[in-house]
Amino acid sequence: MTPLLEIRNLTRHFDLGSGIVKALDDISLTLNTGEIMGIVGESGSGKSTLARIVMGLDHPTAGTVVLDQRDIFSLVPRELRRARRDFQMVFQDPYGSLNPRHRVGRIIAEPLHLIPSAPRGAARRQMVGELLEEVGLDAGDQDRFPHEFSGGQRQRIAIARALITKPRLLVADEATSALDLTVQKQILDLILKLRSKHAVSVLFITHNIGVVEEICDTVAVMQNGKLVEFGRAKAVLDAPQQAYTRRLLAAEPRLDVIGRKSRTAVR
Ligand code: ADP
Repeated sequence: MTPLLEIRNLTRHFDLGSGIVKALDDISLTLNTGEIMGIVGESGSGKSTLARIVMGLDHPTAGTVVLDQRDIFSLVPRELRRARRDFQMVFQDPYGSLNPRHRVGRIIAEPLHLIPSAPRGAARRQMVGELLEEVGLDAGDQDRFPHEFSGGQRQRIAIARALITKPRLLVADEATSALDLTVQKQILDLILKLRSKHAVSVLFITHNIGVVEEICDTVAVMQNGKLVEFGRAKAVLDAPQQAYTRRLLAAEPRLDVIGRKSRTAVR
């Protein structure tokens, strides 16, 4: 197994004046190429802070992030721009993350500004159309606006946008949490399909430990900025070692759903 992402001793403190919040406290994790790692924990456990630092959107107080053997905090701007193609993010709110004034085609092509040699004109249109079909929409949907789509379809558009630079790492921060259960399952299925087709690795961040088994190879459980449990997803869910993990499981029972079919399809 080749490590794609190494999170090394990551610590992030926020100085609120009235005191220090330890959003992350010495977190170390390794994500292998082609794997999906779940990051779970209650609200405030540090998941989004971790995602933001991995994406290079925030700086750690200590520790670092190594993507494909490159320490992302020691890259010069030109190198960082080049590396940015390799990791993309999908956010929770498909309504908020797509510019309502832009057509879908423009939204999906937006990350191509990172690639000076990216195709333009008809070739770009074809590229966007193929991606739309891959995520279960129509090539012609690129001429429509986000408000013409349902929540699940907008999340598909967000995923297409994330894939356009052919990233090696996808960070999905509560990417299915705003969707109803049936649509959630469809999006999880889509992520599994894309993982097996593109060998993209995924950090799947969720407060809902119940969905982890459906999609993740490994799971990291976070509490108050600390990593409290880590292991293969099935092992952690079958026999959680920590009372905190058991509490999360009691609150969000496992989704006994699409999983069986999807997992056998990709393994
Ligand atoms: P989660 O994503 O698990 O809900 P967060 O990473 O958003 O957790 O937050 C972890 C902790 O860090 C929380 O206590 C939160 O209030 C604090 N925090 C996050 N971002 C900031 C910030 N920009 N300024 C101050 N405190 C923050």
